[in-house]
Amino acid sequence: MHCLSFETESPVSRVMNSWSPQALVQKSLEARNFAYCPYSKFRVGAAVLTSTGSVFTGCNVENACYSAGLCAERTAISKAVSEGHTTFKAIAIASDLEDRVISPCGGCRQFMREFGSQWDVYLAKSDGSYKLMTVEELLPCSFGPEDLRAKQLD
Ligand SMILES: [Zn+2]
Repeated sequence: MHCLSFETESPVSRVMNSWSPQALVQKSLEARNFAYCPYSKFRVGAAVLTSTGSVFTGCNVENACYSAGLCAERTAISKAVSEGHTTFKAIAIASDLEDRVISPCGGCRQFMREFGSQWDVYLAKSDGSYKLMTVEELLPCSFGPEDLRAKQLD
């Protein structure tokens, strides 16, 4: 079943000229189709919107060594960073859960927070409905790059 993804066009990064929360959520829903999750069977997709309007998608990528697996959010953000984008407007996250929104794990909250605490996170259900939160709301009283710089003063 996973082989099908090789026959489908990859959701490559591209500029979203007029974005909307619904459109970003839709991209995260589509990104689920590429999830590599033979162990959990729990598909997750993410789509991150950069400050310049580019969208990068990601999916969870599991591994036989379970702890080496990667979440969809970190996949999407890493794709963006590896192409020079480090400022973000929003990220949408979707799974197959129908009755509740998907919530990012603690590791991903910290990963997002590296790039600021005042940007939007759309937590979606499989039907595309969503809950909007900020990184700050998901990870209050966080530790970030500013804290490391504060240490360098002495
Ligand atoms: Zn995560």
